[in-house]
Amino acid sequence: MVEKDDWRLLNDVDDLRSIELNPTDGEDIFANAPHLKHCIFCLDLVNDDKFQFWYIPVNISCYICENCYRDFKDMFMWKILDGYDIDWKRE
Ligand SMILES: [Zn+2]
Repeated sequence: MVEKDDWRLLNDVDDLRSIELNPTDGEDIFANAPHLKHCIFCLDLVNDDKFQFWYIPVNISCYICENCYRDFKDMFMWKILDGYDIDWKRE
Protein backbone atom coordinates (compact mmCIF):
# COMPACT_ATOMS: atom_id res chain seq x y z
CA MET A 1 0.00 0.00 0.00
CA VAL A 2 1.04 3.56 -0.73
CA GLU A 3 0.55 6.28 1.83
CA LYS A 4 -0.37 9.79 0.73
CA ASP A 5 2.89 11.04 2.23
CA ASP A 6 5.04 8.32 0.67
CA TRP A 7 8.57 9.77 0.44
CA ARG A 8 8.69 8.94 -3.26
CA LEU A 9 5.98 11.53 -3.91
CA LEU A 10 8.29 14.28 -2.67
CA ASN A 11 10.05 14.22 -6.02
CA ASP A 12 8.85 16.35 -8.91
CA VAL A 13 6.17 13.96 -10.14
CA ASP A 14 2.98 16.04 -10.25
CA ASP A 15 3.01 16.41 -14.04
CA LEU A 16 3.04 12.64 -14.46
CA ARG A 17 -0.66 12.29 -13.67
CA SER A 18 -2.94 10.73 -16.31
CA ILE A 19 -0.18 10.36 -18.90
CA GLU A 20 0.55 7.50 -21.29
CA LEU A 21 3.46 5.16 -20.54
CA ASN A 22 5.33 2.69 -22.68
CA PRO A 23 6.82 -0.44 -21.13
CA THR A 24 10.50 -1.03 -21.83
CA ASP A 25 13.53 -2.61 -20.19
CA GLY A 26 16.94 -1.61 -18.90
CA GLU A 27 18.79 -2.89 -21.92
CA ASP A 28 16.71 -0.76 -24.30
CA ILE A 29 17.14 2.29 -22.13
CA PHE A 30 20.90 1.86 -22.03
CA ALA A 31 21.04 1.46 -25.79
CA ASN A 32 18.72 4.32 -26.69
CA ALA A 33 18.43 6.90 -23.95
CA PRO A 34 21.21 6.59 -21.37
CA HIS A 35 20.90 10.24 -20.32
CA LEU A 36 18.30 9.43 -17.69
CA LYS A 37 19.70 7.04 -15.16
CA HIS A 38 17.16 6.41 -12.45
CA CYS A 39 13.52 6.09 -11.47
CA ILE A 40 11.92 9.50 -10.95
CA PHE A 41 10.08 8.23 -7.88
CA CYS A 42 12.46 6.05 -5.88
CA LEU A 43 15.75 6.91 -7.65
CA ASP A 44 16.52 3.25 -8.33
CA LEU A 45 19.26 3.02 -10.94
CA VAL A 46 18.65 1.79 -14.48
CA ASN A 47 20.76 -1.31 -15.13
CA ASP A 48 21.77 -2.64 -18.55
CA ASP A 49 19.43 -5.56 -18.02
CA LYS A 50 16.64 -6.77 -20.28
CA PHE A 51 14.93 -8.40 -17.31
CA GLN A 52 14.61 -5.10 -15.45
CA PHE A 53 11.30 -3.56 -16.51
CA TRP A 54 10.62 0.15 -16.78
CA TYR A 55 7.83 2.48 -17.86
CA ILE A 56 8.49 5.69 -19.77
CA PRO A 57 6.27 8.60 -20.85
CA VAL A 58 5.85 9.15 -24.57
CA ASN A 59 8.14 12.21 -24.39
CA ILE A 60 10.86 10.16 -22.64
CA SER A 61 11.23 12.75 -19.92
CA CYS A 62 11.88 10.25 -17.15
CA TYR A 63 11.72 6.57 -16.17
CA ILE A 64 9.46 4.78 -13.73
CA CYS A 65 10.60 1.47 -12.26
CA GLU A 66 8.41 -1.60 -12.05
CA ASN A 67 7.82 -1.27 -8.31
CA CYS A 68 6.81 2.37 -8.46
CA TYR A 69 4.63 1.71 -11.47
CA ARG A 70 2.74 -0.92 -9.50
CA ASP A 71 2.50 1.24 -6.39
CA PHE A 72 1.35 4.43 -8.11
CA LYS A 73 -0.57 3.33 -11.20
CA ASP A 74 -3.96 3.84 -9.56
CA MET A 75 -3.07 7.14 -7.93
CA PHE A 76 -1.65 8.54 -11.18
CA MET A 77 -4.18 6.91 -13.54
CA TRP A 78 -1.59 5.92 -16.12
CA LYS A 79 -2.55 4.50 -19.49
CA ILE A 80 -0.22 1.78 -20.76
CA LEU A 81 0.73 1.66 -24.44
CA ASP A 82 2.11 -1.38 -26.23
CA GLY A 83 5.75 -0.22 -26.18
CA TYR A 84 6.35 -1.06 -29.83
CA ASP A 85 6.58 2.46 -31.17
CA ILE A 86 8.82 4.20 -28.69
CA ASP A 87 10.32 7.22 -30.42
CA TRP A 88 13.70 7.24 -28.74
CA LYS A 89 14.95 10.22 -30.70
CA ARG A 90 12.57 12.64 -29.05
CA GLU A 91 14.05 14.58 -26.18
ZN1 LIG B 1 10.97 3.51 -8.60
